[in-house]
Amino acid sequence: MTDLIRLQPEGLAGPGSRFHIDAWGKAAVNLITHAHGDHARAGSAEYWCAEPCAAILRHRLGPEARIRPVPYREPVRLGDCWISFHPAGHILGSAQIRVEQASRVWVVTGDYKRDADPTCESFEPVPCDTMITEATFGLPIYRWDSAHEVTRRIVEWWQRCREDNVTALLFCYALGKAQRILAELARFTRDEVLLHGAVASLTQIYREQGVAMVPTRLVSDAEGPTEGRLVLAPPSAHRSPWMKRFRQVSTAFASGWMAVRGIRRRRGYHRGFVLSDHADWRGLLETVEQSRASRLLVTHGSSDTLARYLREVKGMKAEALTTHFGEEEA
Ligand SMILES: [Zn+2]
Ligand SMILES: [Zn+2]
Repeated sequence: MTDLIRLQPEGLAGPGSRFHIDAWGKAAVNLITHAHGDHARAGSAEYWCAEPCAAILRHRLGPEARIRPVPYREPVRLGDCWISFHPAGHILGSAQIRVEQASRVWVVTGDYKRDADPTCESFEPVPCDTMITEATFGLPIYRWDSAHEVTRRIVEWWQRCREDNVTALLFCYALGKAQRILAELARFTRDEVLLHGAVASLTQIYREQGVAMVPTRLVSDAEGPTEGRLVLAPPSAHRSPWMKRFRQVSTAFASGWMAVRGIRRRRGYHRGFVLSDHADWRGLLETVEQSRASRLLVTHGSSDTLARYLREVKGMKAEALTTHFGEEEA
């Protein structure tokens, strides 16, 4: 029997290429796991996504894109398949995509995490025969502390910046990570946080969907000096002309990559906070187990390592699958 989902030049494809999932080429129907740039690309005739993803996807693709929002867990017929979207816990609206045809079920996880996140619905295990899982952080060295603990460290650093009268410049992905930090901060403070424009527009979409966060303001609208204030900006703004507006800064990067020795220094940040929207090693293994899948296809990141571990240690049918998914932002 041929695989239900196969690798085509445009991306992961369903039977007869009737639909694709997170296509990197042009698709007739492009099922989107979430709105990060490496998964939601322009050029498809039609996009289907989980309902809470639609506004963010619209922001990314523009007013012309044809977008069909589908409520979580609601099966929809597509050709001879049933399709449904299930919470992935990665960012607002992120979904695993379940594809059922006759008696077989495949799940494409997209990006996911198992830790709590006040900005989105928690990951739900979806039983299947074959799972295509991501493995961005698929090495045993990756083991996350709780977001609450990491946020406590961010608040301490911000406090030190106040005492030193410097601007606390925290870089993070503009979609998902920034809003998660703003929501986690609300458990510690009601102080206003300043935002780079790219972060502000996405934060507004989260607010419109009812996500509670600390008060925010565009950095260009800030009254008075920014020293002692916390500013959130995307990594692309680091060392850009945008930074000239600040006098004395302490820079930090919030990312799972900060767990890797040397990356913080190489990228030139003063501080690193290990905060990821992907599953850590334990989360990946737990998810594989809970899926009850008999076959695993592993993509995105350390796919070879995880696939080999599942084969050699767990005795499972597992192989790496090469896709075009990468970092959330170039
Ligand atoms: Zn992502
Ligand atoms: Zn990704």
